[in-house]
Amino acid sequence: MADIPRPSTPGPPEDRATPLPLLAHRRPSIQGNVRAAPPVNSPIRRVWIEEGCISCKVCEDLAPQVFSVDGDATCIVRPEAMRHFAALQEEIEQAAKDCPVEVIKLDGGQA
Ligand code: SF4
Repeated sequence: MADIPRPSTPGPPEDRATPLPLLAHRRPSIQGNVRAAPPVNSPIRRVWIEEGCISCKVCEDLAPQVFSVDGDATCIVRPEAMRHFAALQEEIEQAAKDCPVEVIKLDGGQA
């Protein structure tokens, strides 16, 4: 009986000349998606401070995750503030209402 050539089957991975590509890059990173996700259930889309802040820290006392006053410097909206817009909506709106010089502005929400 003549030998019939058989298709070669790959051996264990370490025997393969070319390793199989990893597919991990095709799966979305859950952690990355969470970081990039927009705030959910929050009408507030953006918060900013206009000129004229007197550094009274009223806003920082209400929502320190969103507002930061460093010493006598003007107030800033923290870079990571957006992730707190939903959870701190009332505090952010209250800060905008209580700001003595009315420089906290909101896109969305009620100020
Ligand atoms: S409440 Fe208004 S004036 Fe006071 S620190 Fe905040 S932005 Fe500035």
